[in-house]
Amino acid sequence: MAYRSGRHFLQVPGPTNIPDRVLRALSAPTMDHRGPEFARLTGEVLGGLRRVFRCSGPVLVYPSSGTGAWEAALVNTLSPGDRVLMFETGHFATLWCGVARRLGLEVEFVPGDWRHGVDPEVVRWRLSRDRRGEIKAVAVVHNETSTGCTSRIAEIREAIDGAGHPALFLVDVISSLGSIDYRHDEWGVDVAVGCSQKGLLLPPGLGLNALGERALEASREARLPRSYWDWRPMLESNAGGYFPYTPPTNLLYGLREALGMLFEEGLENVFARHRRHAEATRRAVRAWGLEVLCLEPEEYSASLTAVLMPEGHDADELRRVVLEEFNMSLGAGLGKLAGRVFRIGHLGDLGDLMLVGALSGVEMGLSLAGVPHCRGGVAAAMEYLTGTVRAGGERV
Ligand code: PLP
Repeated sequence: MAYRSGRHFLQVPGPTNIPDRVLRALSAPTMDHRGPEFARLTGEVLGGLRRVFRCSGPVLVYPSSGTGAWEAALVNTLSPGDRVLMFETGHFATLWCGVARRLGLEVEFVPGDWRHGVDPEVVRWRLSRDRRGEIKAVAVVHNETSTGCTSRIAEIREAIDGAGHPALFLVDVISSLGSIDYRHDEWGVDVAVGCSQKGLLLPPGLGLNALGERALEASREARLPRSYWDWRPMLESNAGGYFPYTPPTNLLYGLREALGMLFEEGLENVFARHRRHAEATRRAVRAWGLEVLCLEPEEYSASLTAVLMPEGHDADELRRVVLEEFNMSLGAGLGKLAGRVFRIGHLGDLGDLMLVGALSGVEMGLSLAGVPHCRGGVAAAMEYLTGTVRAGGERV
């Protein structure tokens, strides 16, 4: 294909834009992964990840996508036939349920409408009925990337405690980590599952597990078969600064740089920036006269917005026009939302002008694709962004 001038706008909700600093870090020469310099790198990145997860326990890094890290969370804590309570919040919750079932777990999959997060009251109700403690784990996707609904993890924790139930709490933070507030220790999560290609500003290729004390205890008794995903050799090798197999060295260079950038900006500022960009995006969507998929304002995602197409219009056609005419990728509708929604990713390394550029591409695309809408979405977003800037660059 002929060269297209200007930058491609990668506005899918992961993988996200890789900042130049991270790209440069990734391109450094690969080092000996058994040498002393590598052990220092391991210490730095694992320490930095613990800060991002707000986890005092170990964080493990696999050369894998997020799906591998899902599997690792399950095989290290559970045994064949164990009951797991999961919630159909969207496409990714459905995929995780599939992984669990294929591993031989008995999943109770609570149906959902793909427009809400997990209802903590349903968690409390279901667990209080499980008097014999048959449910061994509750597994929740924090930010459902297919719908733009964020589940309230602290409230779900309270519901589990309120029911006095000992189930492990497993949480997928794949599209929330580094974008939306997440507190592993404080929220009593036993295993959090993350990966590199979203708020961590990296290419795909790293799968993460953050572990709590109860998860480590459970892993001593768990009987699902595990080899590559086994936490034990990883924990032993990491203690000395190494990996039980060849690690993804260059991605770890990138990770060190990306963590440094998140800490320079300050995690609270990173979360506030995401919330502000999400609000600006929703204002644009409403001004266009379109509908945000998520129905519960408390559950609006700060990392992406899924937008419903008007009846009779195909979201994939809009995405095709936007890609062809404006060199921008938008997220597709997934699973049963295919063709019915498009998703605007506003997570990762994003500034105000990048967001306004992305929204401009959507607004122009809506016109060119003949989708009925009102003008003024970009103007509404700009008004909000302008109103929340203070002199000196501080955002409120
Ligand atoms: N969970 C969530 C919330 C996701 O958004 C994704 C991917 O986008 C996954 C899991 C699966 O991760 P991967 O595609 O890296 O295997």
